[in-house]
Amino acid sequence: MNLQQELKERFGYSSFREGQEEIIHSVLNKRDTVAMLPTGTGKSLCYQLPGYLMDGHVLIISPLLSLMQDQVEQMKVMGEKRVIALNSFLPYMERREALERLHLYKFIFISPEMLMNRGVISSLQSLDISLYVIDEAHCISQWGPDFRPDYLKLGELKKMLHNPTTLALTATATEEVREDIKQVLQMEHAVEMVYSVDRGNIGLFVKRVSGPNEKLNTLLECVRAWEGPGVVYFSSKRMAEDVALWLSENGVSGVAHYHGGMEQEDRILIQQQFLSGKLRMICATSAFGMGVNKENIRFVIHFHFPSSIEAFLQEIGRAGRDGESSVSVVLYSEQDLSLPLQFIESELPQDDQIQRFIEEGSKGQSKELIEQLQLTEVQYRFLLYYTEELTRDMPIDQDRLLEKVKQIRNNRLQYKKENLYAMINWLQAVTCRREKLLHYFNEKKNVDNPYCCDRCGDSLDDFKTEPFALNIQETGTANWEKRLENLLLG
Ligand code: ADP
Repeated sequence: MNLQQELKERFGYSSFREGQEEIIHSVLNKRDTVAMLPTGTGKSLCYQLPGYLMDGHVLIISPLLSLMQDQVEQMKVMGEKRVIALNSFLPYMERREALERLHLYKFIFISPEMLMNRGVISSLQSLDISLYVIDEAHCISQWGPDFRPDYLKLGELKKMLHNPTTLALTATATEEVREDIKQVLQMEHAVEMVYSVDRGNIGLFVKRVSGPNEKLNTLLECVRAWEGPGVVYFSSKRMAEDVALWLSENGVSGVAHYHGGMEQEDRILIQQQFLSGKLRMICATSAFGMGVNKENIRFVIHFHFPSSIEAFLQEIGRAGRDGESSVSVVLYSEQDLSLPLQFIESELPQDDQIQRFIEEGSKGQSKELIEQLQLTEVQYRFLLYYTEELTRDMPIDQDRLLEKVKQIRNNRLQYKKENLYAMINWLQAVTCRREKLLHYFNEKKNVDNPYCCDRCGDSLDDFKTEPFALNIQETGTANWEKRLENLLLG
């Protein structure tokens, strides 16, 4: 079989990108495969092309609804009609109908939550699934960014579907996380195909600033000097909104904000406007980006740094997918250090929440309990999963259960803290930043990169483009300082 020809005929591409062909071969040879390719390389092709060459169906488990919708739309645009997304978006009647007609679809995208439904499982069991794909597989790991217990059951499910060839795809997973992926998916003998996480066309810069005012002014300087398109990342929704507004007030045109608290329709609209070039810049939280396929993003600025190197790489990896020169800048001040730590701590349940959950748990976990204990969704999922897991096989008294759940929480907290410290350590690096980043993934630096980082003597000025037309009303700054003060206090 001539893969090259298949690539040309079905997708119109003249050559494979690094890694694609090897991964496709591995899958076609029915080997379970864990594949790590940098963001934007073309992971989707690694299941789409083999899917066409295999007889059965391809089941793709995708963690994010928006990502899934996006992938399905893209396949439809490419002319594939036998593709469907099964998720909670699909109204009940349509879902029932889709389940009855499932055999008509070649590519079935599904959310992990949906896979826990008995009816869905039995419909899938009646099909010949030849390829079981887990996209963004790092989410599977118990150390993943969000606690998603449904992911931990994907190995069991694979067995129930008669052990199809399994392909786990990710852009950023350390060795530890890859081991975890294999264990959860019960694919101990999987081949690992790991390609460099390095994106040589992205210059890496960290700008140390004294505080919020200098940070804002540096941001303004950067976005006035660069035409974009670009993304600025924030850890808070309010800051993303306020800074987008402030930039507009200071003459930066084509800026909008984006975060998970916005209505779905507004988010889609902003994303579309950015993709089509009507907007040149987005101030966003981490909710923005997965599945955003924009080739010419020229800069990614972090107004707040993320809490792990993996998340950082995912976010900067949205720049320069066309291979052209692009830049990543982290604006960082000493004052930023405590916030992510508080954030990590608040993500997990506190001692008293664990205790009360266990005490009240025997009476059934109701909505009221979530409200009473003021649990977030992640905290609730965590407590529910571990209290069930630990009591499944044998009875255990409440004190022991409490102790065990606390211990799991502490381990997880410790792991997250270590990730955060690795990120902070990188920000404070005095030697080559690329080398340090790659070292984290057990990789060595490629000396052929056109440029590198601030520590290697590269200058942000080299990334300047023609300044775009400004509509400057300098009056915004004074108001902003007051607002910023309120924001930081409140
Ligand atoms: P990711 O690795 O981030 O999941 P995607 O699968 O969304 O990336 O692909 C990113 C882009 O690369 C898409 O626009 C896709 O059409 C394109 N692409 C994938 N493979 C090739 C190839 N061999 N040649 C040219 N473009 C490709």
